[in-house]
Amino acid sequence: MVVVGGRMTGSAVAASLATRGVAVTVVDAPDPLGDATAASYGWINSHKKHPESYHVLNSAGLEHFHGVLAGVPGVFRATGHVEIAGTDEHVASFEQRSRRLQGLGYGVDEHEPADLARLVPGLAVRARLVRGFPREGIAAPDRLVAHFTATAVAAGARTVGARVDRVHRDGVVLTDGTTIAADAVVVCAGVATGAVTATAGLEVPTVAAETGNVVMGYMATTAPTPAAVDRIVTTDGLNLRPEPGGGMRLQALGLDGDCDPDRAPFDVPAHVTDAFSERLAEVLPAAAGTPLQVRIGRRVIPGDGFPAVGPVDDDARIWTLVTHSGVTLGPWLAERLAEEMLGAPPDPRLAGYSPRRFRASTGEAPAAPRAPGDQ
Ligand SMILES: Cc1cc2nc3c(=O)[nH]c(=O)nc-3n(C[C@H](O)[C@H](O)[C@H](O)COP(=O)(O)OP(=O)(O)OC[C@H]3O[C@@H](n4cnc5c(N)ncnc54)[C@H](O)[C@@H]3O)c2cc1C
Repeated sequence: MVVVGGRMTGSAVAASLATRGVAVTVVDAPDPLGDATAASYGWINSHKKHPESYHVLNSAGLEHFHGVLAGVPGVFRATGHVEIAGTDEHVASFEQRSRRLQGLGYGVDEHEPADLARLVPGLAVRARLVRGFPREGIAAPDRLVAHFTATAVAAGARTVGARVDRVHRDGVVLTDGTTIAADAVVVCAGVATGAVTATAGLEVPTVAAETGNVVMGYMATTAPTPAAVDRIVTTDGLNLRPEPGGGMRLQALGLDGDCDPDRAPFDVPAHVTDAFSERLAEVLPAAAGTPLQVRIGRRVIPGDGFPAVGPVDDDARIWTLVTHSGVTLGPWLAERLAEEMLGAPPDPRLAGYSPRRFRASTGEAPAAPRAPGDQ
């Protein structure tokens, strides 16, 4: 089988197939403009996932990290997550969200604002509502890709650094004209998934990148600092989480409104970098002045915002795994996809997430993530 794309979803699919005895070729054209994995916040969660069937998928993804992936060194840390609401708007939405998660049986710790100094020392934010989410954690996306790629190769997979020009029911054709025959093709090409499946006359739409839309997001990485937080922290205006090596990754969703795809990945306006630095100094004063680099990322958002996992064509020769929250979901979905490709009935939790649904309608693209708890 051929897997198109070798980053978060493609490497996971390759590992899931190869370890089940399938001969796999992974074809990946490195492309910093289309590499969602490199820009990911890597927050493993099922935090604000509607409807409930989507929450079920993300919870399964989260538990997969606590189970199967817990034994893989360096890819996941169950740090927990603390969210602190200070503004009226944040308090109102967060109260509602926490209650829903409690009702769903998701671990929610209720804290007093006075607990914050103990939970996250050094934080200087207005705390009116503080909740902890102890099951959540962080993944190192590049390490996960390295792990899955090594697992696939150890099980006999071949990797090819090349661009696929088109896919068809019997394999793929590369841009240099080389053909690779296959019994099935799995398209895991991130934002290019729609374009790649379209070469076979199939439709798996992904939302196109436009300045400030749901696709676009900034991600900052700081230099190592002794002031780094030790868990995921969400505040009114800045999200922080530790990075392997002693730095942090930061998100400030409120800044994403002018995030321009034509400037990806590193041509970030100076006012954005300055705003990240200012917010960091405000929220975590001991980290003031820590150098940081901001990157422009493109989220992979299927046309209606939800994962598309399974066969695309009628004969089940062309498959896809394309999703947002692909770090949380990719490893678990890859296992389910591999089972189905090898003849198992589709996992009932994936009912409604077939790529074939796009034949009927492209659905409505979701709103851009701008509020705390979004991703
Ligand atoms: C700002 C931001 C924050 C995020 N935060 C989180 C988070 O906290 N938690 C979470 O779970 N998820 C998060 N995500 C989402 C997650 O990172 C993505 O869903 C996931 O990385 C997608 O992986 P992918 O392999 O499908 O796509 P990609 O990483 O984009 O990889 C696709 C690969 O396919 C290759 N390719 C494309 N076309 C071709 C072709 N024709 N031939 C060969 N190769 C091709 C590309 O070059 C690329 O290497 C975030 C994403 C962004 C951008």
